Amino acid sequence: MRSLVQRFAARVQGSRRYAYLMEYEALQWRSREELEADQFGRLRALLRHAFETVPFYREMFREAGVHPDEIKSRADYAKLPCLTKDIIKRNRNALISSRFDVNVLRGNSTGGSTGEPLQFFQEMDVYEQMCANLMLSLKMAGWREGERVFSIWGNPKDFSKKKSLLGKIKESLATTVILNAYKYNEDIFNSWIAEIQRSGNAFIYGYPSVISGFAHHIVNKNVRLNNVKGIQTSAEQLLDDQRSILDKAFQCKVYDQYGSRECPGIASECAHGGMHLLTHSSYVEFVDDPEAPGEAKKVVVTPLNSYAMPFLRYEIGDYAQPVNSVCACGRGFPLMRMNIGRLYDRFVCEGGHILHGTLLVRQVAGIRGIKNFQFHQRDLVNIDLNIIRSTAFDEADRGKIEAINANLSALPVPRVVMRVNYVESFPQTVGGKHRIFISDVRP
Ligand SMILES: [Zn+2]
Repeated sequence: MRSLVQRFAARVQGSRRYAYLMEYEALQWRSREELEADQFGRLRALLRHAFETVPFYREMFREAGVHPDEIKSRADYAKLPCLTKDIIKRNRNALISSRFDVNVLRGNSTGGSTGEPLQFFQEMDVYEQMCANLMLSLKMAGWREGERVFSIWGNPKDFSKKKSLLGKIKESLATTVILNAYKYNEDIFNSWIAEIQRSGNAFIYGYPSVISGFAHHIVNKNVRLNNVKGIQTSAEQLLDDQRSILDKAFQCKVYDQYGSRECPGIASECAHGGMHLLTHSSYVEFVDDPEAPGEAKKVVVTPLNSYAMPFLRYEIGDYAQPVNSVCACGRGFPLMRMNIGRLYDRFVCEGGHILHGTLLVRQVAGIRGIKNFQFHQRDLVNIDLNIIRSTAFDEADRGKIEAINANLSALPVPRVVMRVNYVESFPQTVGGKHRIFISDVRP
C-alpha cells in the first residue's frame, strides 16, 4: 500500500523512474539475443546523437573515417578510440551535446580514488534511471517494494543539497532510512543496531568498508540481528574478507552492485550470486590489457543513458572478466566477475570517529587549478593537504582551498585541522603508485 502511494506521488511529480523500472523488469527475462539486439539499438541511437550534436565525437568520427551508420557490430564499435579521463579533462566543453543547455545540467564529479577527480555533466533523467536501476538491483536481490532499506551513505553533498541525489533515492524507496557513513563510532553503531532491530524485514545498502566496520562491531558485541534479509554493497569493490564478516554478522546474503558516478548501473548481483550486466544501462567491453592482473581484462564502458555528455568507450579504470555461463535465476542479462577493483581509504580521528577519504577528495574536486593532491594525516586532528598546482591555478582557486577548513567544520564529521602545502612533487611510494591518503596514525 505504501509503495502504491509512493508510485502515485512520483507519477504526479512527473517522475519517470517507475516507468523505467517496469521497462527494466520486463527486459531482464528476455533472451540474451534479444537483449543484445536491444542494447545495440540503444548504442546506435547514442552514436547518432553524439555524431550529430557533440563536437568532440563529430571530429572523432571524421578522423576515424566512419559514419555512425556504418557501425553494425560490436567489432565495428571496438575499432573506435577509447575515451580516457585525460581526454575528458582536455575536451570537457566539446563533449557536451549542443542539444542540452549546460545551465540546467547537473554538475557531478568522481570520487577520485586515483587522485584527480573527473568533472562532468548529467541530465536529470539519468537520475531517474539510476533510481530505477537501484530498485531493480534490490529486487534482483530479493527486496520487495515497501520493505525498509537502511542506506549507509557517504556523500555529504547528498546530505546538504535540496533535491539532492540522496533525496531522490530516498523518495524512490518509500522506506529508506539514512545512516551517515561519514561519522560513526561504537555509540553510533549501537544506535544503528537498535534502529534495525525495531524494524521489520530490512535490507542494508552502502559502502562495504563502512558496513564491514559495523559488522565487526556486531560480531564483537555478540549481537543477534535476525531481520536483515540482504545487504547490497556499492561504490567500492567488495572484498572477500569483507563479504565473510558481513555473512557472519548479519547471517544473510551480500549482494554486490557495480557502477560509478559517471557510469551508474553497470552490473548487479542476483539472489543466485550471478553478477549481471544491466544491458539497458551500460554497454560494457572487456579489453585485453598487458597490465591487467591474471585473467582480468580492462573494463571499457559506454553509459547508454547519458545524452548530455556522452562517454563513448570510456576507460573506467577497473578490471573484470566476462563469464559465459547462464545464471540459475533465468535472467537474460549476461554475467561478469570482478575481483580487482578500487579501494578507498579512511582516517581514524578523535574518539575513534572515522573520516572518509572520499569526503576529503570532494573538498578539492571542483578546483580546476589543482593538478594533483595528497592528504597526509599527521595525528588524530591534523591533516596536511599537499597540492601540486597547474598553470591554470588562480586566486579563486586559492580562496576555495582556504575555505576547506570552514567547509569541513560545517559538516557532521570528526574535528580536523587542514594545513595546505603547495609542493612540486610527492615522495615516491613503493611500486611508484600515487597514494592520495597517507596516515601516521596507527589505530
Ligand atoms: Zn542470476
